[in-house]
Amino acid sequence: MSVIDEVLAANEIYARTHELRALTPRPQRKLAVLTCMDTRLSTRTLGLQEGDAHIIRNAGGIVTEDALRSLVVSHYLLGTEEFMVINHTDCGLMHTTEHDLRTRIQNRAGTEAISPAFFYAFQNIEENVRHQLQKLRTHPWISKQVLVRGFVYDVISGLLREIKDG
Ligand SMILES: [Zn+2]
Repeated sequence: MSVIDEVLAANEIYARTHELRALTPRPQRKLAVLTCMDTRLSTRTLGLQEGDAHIIRNAGGIVTEDALRSLVVSHYLLGTEEFMVINHTDCGLMHTTEHDLRTRIQNRAGTEAISPAFFYAFQNIEENVRHQLQKLRTHPWISKQVLVRGFVYDVISGLLREIKDG
């Protein structure tokens, strides 16, 4: 039995009650969170309940083309008014470079690949958060009415630390 089979079994049990049926697609607290896929950060970490917020995740918590697409949909179609960007300590994309990462993967896969074009590896976490904020704040479709704030999540202490611009 694979983990996916276990998930399917759990889903059957969940569907008997399906408590989340009552939720609407619009996040109740009008919040969108962009963060890393890291397992150590969850809605529980943020005190959020299901239905409260959009949680957009990718490796690193990076404002990629696709994350941007989701945030734009989140704001314009589903009414979110605050964006929170969270990177975290001990991220897999830290302490490496694009080149090293690509070489390592190519060696294991035994072949090159055009896509993904970038892994968005980074060395300085504060700088990386500021860079993500900058991408959002300068985007013509992210209106000035949207509150955009950036944070580093410390996986040891469990605390968020705000990163200010500049
Ligand atoms: Zn990470």
